[in-house]
Amino acid sequence: MRKTISAALGLAAALFTGAALAQQPVDWDKIQIRTTDLGNKTYMLAGQGGNITVAVGSDAIIMIDSQFAPLHDKIKAAIAAISPLPIKYLVNTHFHGDHTGGNGPFQADGVIVVAQDNIRIRLTAGTQNGITGNKTPPVAPGAVPKETYVGGTRNVEAGGRVAKLTHVNNAHTDGDSWVYFADANVLCTGDTFNNLKKYQTIDFANGGDVRGMIAANEIYLKVANDQTRIVPGHGGLATRADVVEFHKMLVTARDRIQKLVDEGKTEEEVIAMKPLADLDATWANSEQQAKDYTKMVYNSFKRS
Ligand SMILES: [Zn+2]
Repeated sequence: MRKTISAALGLAAALFTGAALAQQPVDWDKIQIRTTDLGNKTYMLAGQGGNITVAVGSDAIIMIDSQFAPLHDKIKAAIAAISPLPIKYLVNTHFHGDHTGGNGPFQADGVIVVAQDNIRIRLTAGTQNGITGNKTPPVAPGAVPKETYVGGTRNVEAGGRVAKLTHVNNAHTDGDSWVYFADANVLCTGDTFNNLKKYQTIDFANGGDVRGMIAANEIYLKVANDQTRIVPGHGGLATRADVVEFHKMLVTARDRIQKLVDEGKTEEEVIAMKPLADLDATWANSEQQAKDYTKMVYNSFKRS
């Protein structure tokens, strides 16, 4: 029998371009995991959901993000095709289900999930999407990260490979980590950046804030050089030039909407004014998404 499971919650929470898919059940059997060699024993894996990064050390592997639980076997097989070594650590860039869905099955395999501590809190409590109102229930105890850190940076090491995790406050969510592999010059952004040339969700109901998105991308512009391979949360492998473009969009959106917030305009008034109309033409897939993005930026300034 064909196995289909609705991925609505994870995809809807993930990004706009996932929203259309969210209404459809995903046929996991048809999803293929595609591997891109980034050099220095570091790889990007794409399938359904957030991109995965794999770093192979001398005796073990670190992976960043895990897509959906039903893809666990395929992801595991794709990693086994790279190296027979065991996976020691799985890092979560944020709590959304299209990045953390594999936590349960990978931890059942003996992998240790590492994340910023707000991910543990949100996965344990369950969450609600500020745009759709959809509720995501708490995850099973086995899917909660075993190791967490609160702020600043944390190094995760396996077989000589070091993943440097850095928490950025209130960006895509309140639990984002970006990850840098200095030895490979590979930067993993999670959903604080996408390379789809489309607006990226700001999950304001779960601590997201356009100002943190900007702060994250300004860090990437400092860390990255023209040779840096940037693994985005979604979309193909990116370069610093793609971050420049994305950052510019964020700053324009923030400047225009913050001004209207400061003038005391309501959410309805701001949405009706279409302050991002010129950006919407490029960055939004639909009128609804344009409205939603304006709403997300506006609510960045109204978070309680
Ligand atoms: Zn996300």
